[in-house]
Amino acid sequence: MTTINAYAAHDPESDLEPHDINRRDIKDDDVKIEITYCGVCHSDIHQVRNDWNNSQYPVVPGHEIIGRVTEVGANVDDFSEGQLVGVGCMVDSCQECQHCKNDLEQFCEEGAVMTYNGPDEHLGGHTFGGYSEQIVVDKEFVLNVPENIDTKAAAPLLCAGITTWSPLRHWNIGEGDKVGVIGLGGLGHMGVKFADALGAEVVMITRSPEKAEDAKRLGADEVLISTDREQVNKHKGSFDFLLNTIPVKHDLDPYIQLLSVDSTMVLVGAIEPLEEMHGGGLIGGRKRVAGSVIGGIKETQEMLDFCGEHDVTCDVEMIDIENINEAYKRVVNSDVKYRFVIDMQSLKN
Ligand SMILES: [Zn+2]
Ligand SMILES: [Zn+2]
Repeated sequence: MTTINAYAAHDPESDLEPHDINRRDIKDDDVKIEITYCGVCHSDIHQVRNDWNNSQYPVVPGHEIIGRVTEVGANVDDFSEGQLVGVGCMVDSCQECQHCKNDLEQFCEEGAVMTYNGPDEHLGGHTFGGYSEQIVVDKEFVLNVPENIDTKAAAPLLCAGITTWSPLRHWNIGEGDKVGVIGLGGLGHMGVKFADALGAEVVMITRSPEKAEDAKRLGADEVLISTDREQVNKHKGSFDFLLNTIPVKHDLDPYIQLLSVDSTMVLVGAIEPLEEMHGGGLIGGRKRVAGSVIGGIKETQEMLDFCGEHDVTCDVEMIDIENINEAYKRVVNSDVKYRFVIDMQSLKN
């Protein structure tokens, strides 16, 4: 066991502060990683504040982890010392159920072990995430990160990236498709970049006209202001796919009317409860409203490889770990373009 520096929250009301945690000694299937960067996801804040009523304290958040391999176990062939790697939202799963066998570990019947706040079967207690110096992870949950992309801007790919990539791939989005991305935040900005890189016609759908310029810079062909009735009417029934990244309760009907026949709107936010929907809007056009959460390990690797080939990364603002509490306030106020990434070197100072 190794004791290392981390940042933790000790209860829902307190700020995060320095805290020592233990990492297990590596076993045969393990990879030990020195963390260089860690993205700040909105779920980190939800877990720190116990918004989902399942937090275990101390909470050490962080599931957008980039680092270098420092040691590997005897059974590890695919990773070696010095290699650039990533760890996302999961660090383990049963590996035997139908979903794990189908590379959908996020839907593991036993429940995937989350990178933080999951049951730690090695040391007991619960798992600790990436706001820390090092992490030890089973090789099946370690991802290879292409060396040619901006490493710090790659961190949010591990959650914000795969969350938007997975539905675009599952619904086979590509050339000839008209895709609407609803909401321009951490997820939405990656949705625009990916849909554009996949060859689709991309429309940013937002209530905020001031976001238009940025949306176009990120790859949107057009911007649709959702409160402008004339613009909405112009696009009615024309979208092949809608990626809805709005994280709070909202009226879905205005978006459903934008869908073309046999088309799908995918929700990637855990909104509870959903606003009521009119059945008429769905049945008149055989439309679907679906959900999607992160992605499997194989698909996450495919996304990272794609990012290497197409030079896709996230727009990030770098912070030192001691500014994390201030950064949380700004995330809550949607005051970041579009993701904070912690330079973990600051944890050593
Ligand atoms: Zn996340
Ligand atoms: Zn499983």
